[in-house]
Parts: sequence; C-alpha cells; structure tokens
Amino acid sequence: MSAVTVHNLVKTYASGGKRATDDVSLEVADGEFLVLVGPSGCGKTTLLRMVAGLETPDSGTVSIGGRDVTDLPARQRGLSMVFQSYAIFPHMKVRQNIGFGLMMRKVPKEEFDRRVKRAAELLQLGEFLDRYPAQLSGGQRQRVAVARAIVVDAAVLLMDEPLSNLDALLRLQFRAELKRIVSQIGTTTLYVTHDQAEAMSLGDRVAVMRDGKVAQIGAPLEVYDRPADRFVGGFLGSPPMNFLTATVRDGSLVIGDVSLPAPDLLSTWEGHEVVVGVRAENIQVSEEPAPGWVPAQVEVVEPTGAALLLTARLGEAQLKIQAPATFPAGPDQQVHLRPAPKALRFYDPSTGLALA
Ligand code: ATP
Repeated sequence: MSAVTVHNLVKTYASGGKRATDDVSLEVADGEFLVLVGPSGCGKTTLLRMVAGLETPDSGTVSIGGRDVTDLPARQRGLSMVFQSYAIFPHMKVRQNIGFGLMMRKVPKEEFDRRVKRAAELLQLGEFLDRYPAQLSGGQRQRVAVARAIVVDAAVLLMDEPLSNLDALLRLQFRAELKRIVSQIGTTTLYVTHDQAEAMSLGDRVAVMRDGKVAQIGAPLEVYDRPADRFVGGFLGSPPMNFLTATVRDGSLVIGDVSLPAPDLLSTWEGHEVVVGVRAENIQVSEEPAPGWVPAQVEVVEPTGAALLLTARLGEAQLKIQAPATFPAGPDQQVHLRPAPKALRFYDPSTGLALA
C-alpha cells in the first residue's frame, strides 16, 4: 500500500492568478524517500504543505496510509515535519526540544528518556542534551530539528529544504548523514529541495516539478539519463544536458557539417529537425582528428579537480564536455569530439518532449 497518495491536487492562492499546483497526482510507497525538486515557484512547498494539512487544496485529495485525510487538521495526520527555519524553542534545552512531541503525547519519563537518547545518538547530539540552542552551531540546531521530527515515530516524515541554511560543506556532510538516518529508521519521507544534486543524492525517486505540474518522476539515474523533456534535461545535472539542433537526412543525423548515423526511432522524422540531447560526460574528446570525430573549438577550460569542464563551439552550438583532468586543452584549441551513440537523446523541437 502506498503511504501517501495525492490525487488531482489543485491550489490557487487568492492573491495569485495561476495555479500553484496544477492537477498533481503522485504516490509515495511505504518506506520510500521521494524528493520533490524544481526551480523556485514551481509549487513544491505548496504540495508538501497540502500533504501536511497546512494548506487547503481547491480540489483533489490527500491520503495517508490509505485513509483520506483531505479534511483532517495537520495534527491528526500522523506526520512529522522539518522546516528550513529550524523552528526549535530557544528557551528549552536540546533534550526538551527533541522530546517536545513526546511531552505533548504525555509519554512516561522512562520511555521519554530512552527515545530522546536514541534520536540524539542517531543525530550525534548525545553530548549536547543539556545545552540551549544558542549554545549550538547552525548545523547542530538543524540536527535537533531532525531529531525532534524522528523521535515521535510518525508514519510519514515531511522535510522542506532542511539543509538550505547550512554552508556548502556542512550541507554535503549532513546530506549523507540524513540519508543514513532515514534509511536506518525506514520512515516514508517526502522531501522538498530546489537543489538537483541533493535530490539525486537522497531520493529513491525524484519528482521534477515545473509550473505546478510534475514533469517527470522516477529513480534519480533514470530521470537523469532519460529526461522526459528538455526542461528536465536542463534542470538535472551539473552542467545541464547539452542540446543541439539536427536534421534527419537520408537516414543520417546532420549537425552543421557533421553527419552521424540516425537511430531507427528517427525514421519518421526524415527531412525534419530534431533536438539532440547529450550529457557532458558522454562526449569523448581527443586532440587528434579521426574518422567519425567532429572538430570543435575550445572556448573555456574549467578544472573541477576530478575532471576538466570544456566549453566548446560546434558550428552554431555551444557544448559542455567533461574531459579527463589531465586532458591538455587550452582556449582556442581545436579538439575532436565523438558522442557515445547510445547516450544521445532526441526531443521534438516544438513540444520539447522526448521522442520514444
Ligand atoms: P521555492 O523553492 O521558492 O520555495 P516552491 O517551488 O516551493 O518555490 P511554492 O512556494 O509552492 O513554490 O509557490 C508556488 C507558487 O505559488 C508561486 O508562484 C508562489 O509565488 C505562489 N505562492 C506560494 N505561497 C503563496 C501565498 N501564501 N500567497 C500567494 N501566492 C503564493
């Protein structure tokens, strides 16, 4: 049974004309970690808040554990939430902050202590239980917020950008820890972020949102490798997917002066333009020309440490290419490229949708 089901959720705010969520349906399986990701304003927080019961949908339903909770208040939905602004109580010690939900439920002292201790240990807060939030770092405060959410053993955990107040390094560290903790406790989790790397790293599945709709939902690598449309390919990945315009002519894919064999799925596109999508790491690069390799001009060379990110010009198009860190490239140099044929993806130029 799915732990969370949202069905045809529509929400328009009184002050804003367009729909914040536009007929969204999705399911989160029991024990699954589903990430809602998308650019600012795409409706992910609104969707999460409707699941939480903090926002009322105009139409559609929310079910948790098979029960329709659309008309239930937040506190009766059996959920736990972690927000970006930690929302921990400054006048309470860490122990009381973590145990707040247990206190409200009047859990006996012995059980309270045991559960708070366990949550604190999971979050590596064991030695801070008697401190006040002001005596903690930002990262530790955020851990308190997570510990407080998991201590109540809710059926579903909702998190809205819980890492976004942390600096870059802490964010990376805590991201991996959060993944470990959530997989250890096995709680169904719905998680909102605008950070595509965070979404890819944490989610069992990711739902990429755009303009109030789910553009694509799937396992991170599946969505990364086979974007359902140009928007998803351009949103997921750093750098984003490259897109080139090509023409299908006599069974070949013609990009400027270059001709590549066209795969069967393009047979109905003979004589038409298509958009070709290819990821930076799926383009091989060489200093030497060779049959079937395409000449391109390097414009920018950016070392990332693990690799070299090249920006190269190929006719009208600009491409990002991930070369080995030791590749001897400089600006204005000519290089030769060969995309891995199996890694090419094709899109309808007018709709932006993937050709199947
Ligand atoms: P962000 O990452 O910036 O938080 P988001 O994807 O979470 O964005 P939402 O916060 O859900 O997006 O907002 C979706 C749309 O609804 C946006 O156009 C936003 O301006 C609008 N919106 C959100 N909250 C309100 C509100 N309280 N009143 C009016 N409009 C709102």
